[in-house]
Amino acid sequence: MKLQSGLEDFEKNPQIWSLIEQISSDECQDEAFYLCNIDEIIEKHRVWTSELPKVAPHYAVKCNDDIVILKVLASLGACFDCASQAEISKVVSIGVTPDRIVFANPAKPISHIRYAASVGVSDMTFDSESELYKIRNVYPHARLIIRIRVDAVDAQCPLGNKFGCDPIVAAPRLLRLAESLNLNVIGISFHVGSGCREPAVFRRAIKSTRDLYDYSKTLGFDFSVLDIGGGYPGVRGSSINEIANIVNNSLDEYFNDVKIRVIAEPGRFYVASAYTLTCNIHSIKNIYEEDDKGNITETHRMYYIDDGVYGSFNCILYDHQLVKPIPLVENLEANKISSSIWGPTCDGLDQVIEEIILPEMNIGECIVFEDMGAYTLPVASPFNGFPVPKVYYVFTSGAWSDLKETLALPSNIVKIIEESNIKQNQYNPERKTSTIFVDSAALKSIL
Ligand code: PLP
Repeated sequence: MKLQSGLEDFEKNPQIWSLIEQISSDECQDEAFYLCNIDEIIEKHRVWTSELPKVAPHYAVKCNDDIVILKVLASLGACFDCASQAEISKVVSIGVTPDRIVFANPAKPISHIRYAASVGVSDMTFDSESELYKIRNVYPHARLIIRIRVDAVDAQCPLGNKFGCDPIVAAPRLLRLAESLNLNVIGISFHVGSGCREPAVFRRAIKSTRDLYDYSKTLGFDFSVLDIGGGYPGVRGSSINEIANIVNNSLDEYFNDVKIRVIAEPGRFYVASAYTLTCNIHSIKNIYEEDDKGNITETHRMYYIDDGVYGSFNCILYDHQLVKPIPLVENLEANKISSSIWGPTCDGLDQVIEEIILPEMNIGECIVFEDMGAYTLPVASPFNGFPVPKVYYVFTSGAWSDLKETLALPSNIVKIIEESNIKQNQYNPERKTSTIFVDSAALKSIL
């Protein structure tokens, strides 16, 4: 059995941890909860625009469709990648104009294409003949982006088995068909795999798009969009610097003679590190072994927490995520014991950590999981009656004052948020900190 060490290499964000400690010590707080650090999202956007100044980010809504995140990103000027009618509708509903949306799903239900047409979302991807015929029938003026397949040799979630066409054989054939159907193909896209662990793939992919760009010219197309997809890391301590250097150099190498708008579809980069999940231990099972002499010792401890693989930890199954438990105890080194962590449902599959050495903990104590913002909440279900964790949003006063301007929140709403922020007083008795701490229900009801 492989031992996982969740206790290595972690550095606490003091502001977030002090809030977690205060909320979890609240007697009424006995359910799992998230802290969403909005400053982190704002910082990610700053990093993106400084590292990839020529690449317009289209946030992949599927990754975390929290309306607060969408509003913040919209207010910062980001664009959006939507994969379905519902995602488009959500983004349009917050006032984002259709030209800031790419419908980046190469296999779309006809009704979703019709809906995109009805709201004017015209940029959409394809990778097959049948998609071209569908689009010709219901949205002949759509602006199409061919998705080619270029796979990273190592990625957390490879996507090439499902999407993207072979750039050498299939893509030219599809472009010829599109041309014969009189369709408007405006660009090329790829997605190297989510959680890309091979930065060099971006150079291969950009070179491939240039070859196809040159071929498309021979058919009379004049491509204006290059979509370099998602795949950028987002957890604490990760960096997009290496990928950004490769992308920037490759764009200079292959596209410096061409006027083309470069866009990307980052998902986890923006949200992974912003969300920290705190779970409560509600039950414990001690496992004992008896030796030949009749001595009984505890050999293992099973902790049952209030979120599991049917909730936030679906990311273990679907997103191949390795989660790191951090016990909320004073001494991480005390009385360590082989342990496992289980979700709350009645399913034996509902296991969060198979085996790990942890300090001994008790019922009512908490375990914290960082980097839980990507591909967690949108997939979570309340199976067995265990609710999906609620989210608290944290803004520093700087972020809050900027945001209330850019979100153009009416003053009565700002007043409600600032006054409904009871927790701020409750959790900062000295009132020295500048954190604005907003309950999700309060914020969502007014956004
Ligand atoms: N774009 C498309 C079409 C995707 O399928 C995905 C993820 O599955 C993304 C963007 C976001 O990828 P990531 O979260 O790795 O940036």
